[in-house]
Amino acid sequence: MKRLISAVVSAFALAAALVRPAAAYTPVIDAGHGGFDGGAVSSSGVIESGLNLAISLKTAALFRLFGKDPVLIRETDTAVGDSAKSGRSAKAADLRRRVEIVEATEDAFLISIHQNMFGDSRYGGAHIFYKGDEAKPLAEALQRNVRSQLDPENTREAKPVAGDVYLFRKITCPGILAECGFLSNSRDLAELQDDGHQKKLACLLVSGLLTLESGGM
Ligand SMILES: [Zn+2]
Repeated sequence: MKRLISAVVSAFALAAALVRPAAAYTPVIDAGHGGFDGGAVSSSGVIESGLNLAISLKTAALFRLFGKDPVLIRETDTAVGDSAKSGRSAKAADLRRRVEIVEATEDAFLISIHQNMFGDSRYGGAHIFYKGDEAKPLAEALQRNVRSQLDPENTREAKPVAGDVYLFRKITCPGILAECGFLSNSRDLAELQDDGHQKKLACLLVSGLLTLESGGM
């Protein structure tokens, strides 16, 4: 944790030292799912949307500590679209509203928080995806930092977000999709529910974006 905090502090010091940062983004934090749409559910009943929200709120708090004013797509366990709709149209309305929020934000950089799920419980570890050339170095740095700071066995490589992910297909700003772990893997599931681990993930995300802004990657 100490190493992580010093990484965040040094990223911030680097950003502050530069007269003109390479870029200035408004982080838009998307806690995936919410409300009627819980996302993935572990065999023990842990719901993805709650973990996404917990990590998103910690990430937002840390951004504020460093003088950034993030936009949160949701701050409670609710869906985002028109609550009068139900079923498939409610899901579509929710996703459309998320796109609107991102697109309405000037200099947005989307950070979308999700969890993975797979049939084989052996597979685990955070996986970072990106949209846009601006986001690629951040995704690659995050994936490296996950390995060096959190999970030495994680050999995953950052990849572009798949074309069928509606939110990322529709947005015009850069962004990353952080699949923070697998609900189907017992080690990941325990860590993802741990307050300290959630804070470490938030540290990596915040220090990563500050470093990108400072031109440090
Ligand atoms: Zn998800």
